Amino acid sequence: MQRALYFLIAVLFLSSFNLTLSQTLRCGTTDYMEQMMLQNPSWEEKLVGMEEQTQTIIQQNPSFLSTETITVIPVVVHVVYHTEEENISDPMIYSQIDVLNEDYRKMPGTNGWNNNPVGADTKYEFRMATVDPDGNPTDGITRTHTEKIVFGVDNTVKFNASGGHDAWPTNKYLNIWVCNLGDGYKGYSQFPGGDPATDGVVILYTAFGRPSSLPPYNYGRTTTHEIGHWLYLYHTFWNGCDPPGDFCSDTPYESEPNLGCPVGHISCGSIDMVENYMDYTDDICKNIFTNDQDNRMDVAVNVFRNELLVSYKETKKIDSTGVTYGFTDVNGNIYALLNFLDAGTVDSVTVEVWPDYYPPGQPENTKAVKRFFDFNSHGGDGFVATLKVFYKDSEVIGFENGDANLQLYMRNGSNWMLMGGIVDTTENSIVLSNVSQFGIWAIGDPDDDPIPVELTSFTASLKINSVTLNWITATEINNYGFGIERKLVNSSSGNNEEESKWYKTGFVPGHGTTTEQHTYSFTDDKLFPGSYDYRLRIIDFDGAFDYSNIVNVEIKLASQYSLNQNYPNPFNPTTKITYQIPGKGHVILKVFDILGNEIATLVNGIEDAGVHEIIFDASYPADGRQSLSSGIYFYTIFADGYTKTNKMILLK
Ligand code: ZN
Ligand code: CA
Repeated sequence: MQRALYFLIAVLFLSSFNLTLSQTLRCGTTDYMEQMMLQNPSWEEKLVGMEEQTQTIIQQNPSFLSTETITVIPVVVHVVYHTEEENISDPMIYSQIDVLNEDYRKMPGTNGWNNNPVGADTKYEFRMATVDPDGNPTDGITRTHTEKIVFGVDNTVKFNASGGHDAWPTNKYLNIWVCNLGDGYKGYSQFPGGDPATDGVVILYTAFGRPSSLPPYNYGRTTTHEIGHWLYLYHTFWNGCDPPGDFCSDTPYESEPNLGCPVGHISCGSIDMVENYMDYTDDICKNIFTNDQDNRMDVAVNVFRNELLVSYKETKKIDSTGVTYGFTDVNGNIYALLNFLDAGTVDSVTVEVWPDYYPPGQPENTKAVKRFFDFNSHGGDGFVATLKVFYKDSEVIGFENGDANLQLYMRNGSNWMLMGGIVDTTENSIVLSNVSQFGIWAIGDPDDDPIPVELTSFTASLKINSVTLNWITATEINNYGFGIERKLVNSSSGNNEEESKWYKTGFVPGHGTTTEQHTYSFTDDKLFPGSYDYRLRIIDFDGAFDYSNIVNVEIKLASQYSLNQNYPNPFNPTTKITYQIPGKGHVILKVFDILGNEIATLVNGIEDAGVHEIIFDASYPADGRQSLSSGIYFYTIFADGYTKTNKMILLK
């Protein structure tokens, strides 16, 4: 069996249909998978093993195949553009998310609706990522200007080093790259089980969002289709009229891809499902995923992609008081219970749980349980309820007393209100009665405060290419000190520091415990032109930490050459000489005496754009020379045709 299936998949991928050029171009996934398997033959074998596992799991019928719970998948969209037209707008990105949620949820009243008996509401929703890989808030969009005019079906758009943008951790996020894809391809995708570095979906920018500019591919269904592959779906015409087809028994065999919208077309002796998102038909023609396709997605998400940072939500109709309503994840585990003493005018309630997420407004590693809840009532208000939520021990990180003192908090604007509650550390639950307000709820320990340093100001000032940070504390308790962290937001030249990542650039010790005001300062110099964010990581002696607000500074690109007056001047025996160049180039800086004799060569080489500095030491002006005597000296810069000489005085 294994041998036969192995052979089958190898043949499937390596003998793609003899399609006309225009047919192949709808989707690059087959071509892409062929290439990947040629490069990495073990993937074929892996896919065969995964297929056998999938068939077994579907036969076992675990609860995640038939759950009513919605799984929400976090999406990061990497816009990689050369022209402004390719730099698609935020609303265009959001319109694509809307299309996905209509299509995957078979949403009534939209083009994603169908009344086919095998048509599935897959229970998957997509949402722009709200937390980036460093734990900071994000809109889930990266924008990268590239020198590349066009990308191939070859992963180049997935790496900074080849003119694209590196993936966010592909086990946690669905990565979508939007770019100018060449050779007429509208998109391509990577099946589960492949190289994590390249996992995700790539879409041609004119086929992304709704309405986009490429009819008949202008309703966002290229992305629906490519995510279908990412969720382990084959084309409906896979393997033509022969078993196993696309491994789904409720999608009819198709001899070849359908183009346009040939409703009623017959091949393989049955009517083709031209409306299937996994065919090649026009966007407006498509409106169905089937139950068997949904089962494959369920295996993809819950087995092969089970580290995705998903949240779960379930809606319950409220029709009685005194009844306990349970909200469960896809595996049937209860995460919240609600019991109404008085349901008021409430018609139904949706509760979403975010496992493995710190609550919004709390930076990573501060003291909140790593999970939060979003309670929403529909139809009305005026209720009184008892609410119970569940957590896992593994989500209680860094609490002095473990989960013994956990209480409930509710978000109120940008603050958290302590609501109380009774914890059960055996069951891992907290219960609270007389709740009359819903919203975002989190779990914390009111006695285990986050870092108690009261910061009264944090500012940055700029001098040419150096940044000085100043901050003042009103009080400090148990304060070990301040880690200085820097992130390059935007490089304007020469800087190879990776953008969008925080780097530690220094540390300033704190004052332990004090009620006096203290001022602090830190200077970060020799920066390349660009835009930088700074923040303080405020650390206590227990190792817990919190972050300050962020300040931003912009180091301007040098617009001209200059050679500045040395400092100090007069000097003895050392002085600092600074100069700037507007572009990368060859620089020579020499020192002469008053008779024009060359004393020393301070610089001779290729330098990056920006401001540079060098120390001149008159006690060792050059190898083998004696220290210089008091008097007037000159220093001269030669840089790509620019020359300037300044005078300096050595006074012993
Ligand atoms: Zn495809
Ligand atoms: Ca399902």
